Amino acid sequence: MPESAAPAINIKRCSGCGRCVAACPERIITLETENHHKHAVITEPQRCTDCGACIAACPIEAISSEPFSP
Ligand code: SF4
Ligand code: SF4
Repeated sequence: MPESAAPAINIKRCSGCGRCVAACPERIITLETENHHKHAVITEPQRCTDCGACIAACPIEAISSEPFSP
């Protein structure tokens, strides 16, 4: 199996706006709150189709196309 190509989320930079959650056609992104900071998480990176919709949706470039490393 090739490695998942799911993007990586910079959780420190992420504002938790939820646009990537809405944009993902696979519905594999969710918002979590950690230490009072809301940020996006890719819950099932293995299901990512590498469509790039989340990257395009993010207004502050908090998602990159670098391979997700679990
Ligand atoms: S690249 Fe596409 S399928 Fe993968 S997490 Fe982003 S929006 Fe979802
Ligand atoms: S679109 Fe960007 S800033 Fe908004 S929740 Fe997703 S990663 Fe975070």
